[in-house]
Amino acid sequence: MTDCLFCKIVSGEVPAKVVRETDRTLAFRDINPQAPTHVLVIPKDHHPNVGELAAADADLLAAVLREAHAVAEGDGVADSGYRVVFNTGSGAGQTVFHVHAHVLGGRGLNWPPG
Ligand code: IMP
Repeated sequence: MTDCLFCKIVSGEVPAKVVRETDRTLAFRDINPQAPTHVLVIPKDHHPNVGELAAADADLLAAVLREAHAVAEGDGVADSGYRVVFNTGSGAGQTVFHVHAHVLGGRGLNWPPG
């Protein structure tokens, strides 16, 4: 989608601190990190949210989740614990409507989340 920020990151039109890339996924550091590790994992294809991705391409959703774990391992937070979050819908805080997994770690994470 031409007006999608994360599609522009995929195309290279908008720069990002890329930490991992596969043929179908991209992982890059969040511009406003909420934890020492805060990485966004996206499918390169445009899907608005996790529900629509799951319905359209479950294999791609699985690839996003595999990459989320690989990011946690790469940042050294897999053993201490990390969180994967898909904000879904504006009421849940989604602001970019290209599905993305937040990978958060490197500090204590409270439950329930705010
Ligand atoms: P959401 O609120 O769950 O949709 O998450 C969107 C995330 O994208 C937020 O955590 C933002 O800080 C992050 N973000 C927005 N613009 C950029 C960017 O250009 N590069 C990296 N992260 C971004």
